[in-house]
Amino acid sequence: MNLTKDTIVSLLGKEDFSAEFALADRIRQEHVGDRVHIRALLEFSNYCRRQCRYCGLNRNNSALERFRMQPQEIVETALDAKEAGYRTIVLQSGEDPYYTPAMIGEIVRKIKPCGIAVTLSCGEFDEQTYSYFKECGADRYLLKHETSDPVLYQSLHPDSALKNRVDCQRFIKRAGLETGGGFMIGLPGQTLETVAQDLLLLKEIGCDMAGIGPFLPHPDTPLGTAPHGSAELTLRAVAIARMLLPNANLPATTALGVLDPGCKDLVFACGANVVMQKVTPAKLKRLYQIYPAKFQETDIASGRKQIEQEIREIGKIPY
Ligand code: SAH
Repeated sequence: MNLTKDTIVSLLGKEDFSAEFALADRIRQEHVGDRVHIRALLEFSNYCRRQCRYCGLNRNNSALERFRMQPQEIVETALDAKEAGYRTIVLQSGEDPYYTPAMIGEIVRKIKPCGIAVTLSCGEFDEQTYSYFKECGADRYLLKHETSDPVLYQSLHPDSALKNRVDCQRFIKRAGLETGGGFMIGLPGQTLETVAQDLLLLKEIGCDMAGIGPFLPHPDTPLGTAPHGSAELTLRAVAIARMLLPNANLPATTALGVLDPGCKDLVFACGANVVMQKVTPAKLKRLYQIYPAKFQETDIASGRKQIEQEIREIGKIPY
């Protein structure tokens, strides 16, 4: 579906959005069906060289205890996830130069033959490196544009620019990796025009998946006292993303579930068809603190069973 920026702005601001939610749900049903894809999320390092002002992992947060998993441990955890029934493992980290492209490539090469798809989400690299990850067997790469407003982007990322981020997304696309984008709702200074532009940018990049989640303030960051993003606006943005990108994979973001546990179910009636479940070792989970959240101490197999059950309860098919 094609929508102009003006149309999206007026849709986002509507009093009653129920017809739009229903339309998005219908498009989801027709294009991607009733399966909810469950992705295993392994957060393997919380070291980061960046200073993103909203993120608890930013290098200036000296209150955070840092950890790194060794390649062997990452591979073993991925295999445990495969064993538990997961079809995809998402390997996510801060931008941690400890892991060279060769190391990441080697990890992917060891995981892939076991028959599980690999998504990487480790930040910005040059074009050759994304192509190298693809050669090593990576299937997808997740790198959100965060905000499409270049001035806001610059103020939130002192050591980066929106253009670099979008260039990286284009490199990922050209490398033949499925491209995951996305952005946050409610960043201080964001307007409905920004959100409309964010949605159109997903389409322009040709995102195969898009994570849209509310901004949640982390007390140990420069934005620690800013208000969180709106759950309702997040749901609306997901619904419009489904209209713009009917075949995309749209996750119910973890941040949305943290902000409002009820919305985690609701979003599957507004266009979403993917969910991520952490398989990060229990002792490390609490340290991967992008934003404050409570953590379950479940092991990989029980976590998988639990999420499958939750998906069945909302009438969808866990996959
Ligand atoms: N270093 C990787 C992974 C970043 S963390 C990268 O650069 O892509 C994954 C996502 O968490 C980010 O893309 C961002 O959208 C989200 N995030 C970070 N801080 C957040 C916050 N305070 N509230 C909500 N989402 C946040």
